[in-house]
Amino acid sequence: MRHDPVWDLVVVGAGPAGAAAALEARRLRPDAAVLLVDRAAFPRDKPCGDGIGPHAVDELAALGASGVLDGYPPIHRLRLRSPRGLEVAGVPARPNHVVPRAVLDARLVDAALAAGASFRRARVRRLEERGRLVVADGELAARVVVGADGANSAVRRQLGLPPNPDRALAIAVRGYATAPAGAPEQLIAWVAEGWPAYVWSFPTGTGIANVGYGLLRSRFRGDRAELHRRLRDLLPRADPDQASLRAHHLPFSSSRPPPGRGRVLLAGDAASLVNPLSGEGIYYALASGRLAARAALLAPEQPAAAYRRLLARALGRHLRHAAVLARAIRSPSLAEAGLAAAAGSPALFDVLVELGLGQARITPKLLAALPGGWLHAKGACA
Ligand SMILES: Cc1cc2nc3c(=O)[nH]c(=O)nc-3n(C[C@H](O)[C@H](O)[C@H](O)COP(=O)(O)OP(=O)(O)OC[C@H]3O[C@@H](n4cnc5c(N)ncnc54)[C@H](O)[C@@H]3O)c2cc1C
Repeated sequence: MRHDPVWDLVVVGAGPAGAAAALEARRLRPDAAVLLVDRAAFPRDKPCGDGIGPHAVDELAALGASGVLDGYPPIHRLRLRSPRGLEVAGVPARPNHVVPRAVLDARLVDAALAAGASFRRARVRRLEERGRLVVADGELAARVVVGADGANSAVRRQLGLPPNPDRALAIAVRGYATAPAGAPEQLIAWVAEGWPAYVWSFPTGTGIANVGYGLLRSRFRGDRAELHRRLRDLLPRADPDQASLRAHHLPFSSSRPPPGRGRVLLAGDAASLVNPLSGEGIYYALASGRLAARAALLAPEQPAAAYRRLLARALGRHLRHAAVLARAIRSPSLAEAGLAAAAGSPALFDVLVELGLGQARITPKLLAALPGGWLHAKGACA
């Protein structure tokens, strides 16, 4: 029978959240025994828009992993479209990157292994506390476990925490198509069908584009074929390869569980850390994975309390503001007004982009641009 060591950190799930946790743990303590566990072998695909915003790029730099973007040029241009067809195009203050997740995630796992973490292919089903250790599936003993196992997290279930309700859950389908001719430009087009809903086209800069359609789970009663139909109807020129179409859930941060209990922490989608305005989750996965590792290594006796503080300081206010705006945008007229205002102001265009893709707050300038004092009424500035 094989006897494992006691791991300082076992990370369940080796997506961006898990890889970031492993990287940060080894960065903080180069002798830490860190095990990444995933049910999949890498490289593996993950349904995603593959969009990597500027703050995710900062997180990658903080982890010493900027090289995962190599070969995928910055995409400078961004076009936003309202349901009524109003368009605003511009060059945001900082560019995005688009790297297929089959590439990005494998590179991140490689970086974690190069930093000295170990990898094991296994599906984790059960956690139990034994004294000062957490034991996964009866055989992997750890001082701290990070659940980074995505939108259907088994670790979250083991903590007795329910999944997000449908009103704080989205479903989205993505596929790959030949990129439109010309200079690469990201397109995000809000659409009336399933409102609040949008389609996107994110060229990688290497000749292909990730295209997709997403909406709230509570607004969708159809099946997979219906999602595919809507994507093809709403982005008629994209023509994605049928075999590449895959859908997945996005747990919005507007309904977050406690991010951990005792010696078990949740990061990324497992902690419902997807921006409810944009569907962006990679930045939050990287950031929360990094902070979970900090808590695990620096406060191993009370990691959940330490992690809760770190997360609140880094993301709390921004996530509260994003939740208010996500409720606001359920009124299509407000979305139209926001876009119309951004058309006349490059600074406001940047604010809108930042709200979806990063750390933005609701600013006086944004409030002034929107009609009817709606956000004030919702107490957004608290
Ligand atoms: C269609 C779509 C488009 C999106 N577009 C974007 C976008 O453009 N930009 C963006 O920032 N975000 C986007 N998101 C959100 C983004 O994909 C997620 O937020 C991100 O993948 C979260 O990373 P994670 O590491 O938490 O989880 P994941 O990337 O889901 O990784 C979880 C890992 O855990 C493993 N796992 C699961 N269960 C177990 C288990 N029991 N035992 C062991 N391993 C397990 C899985 O194999 C997987 O490797 C999109 C999501 C969808 C569905």
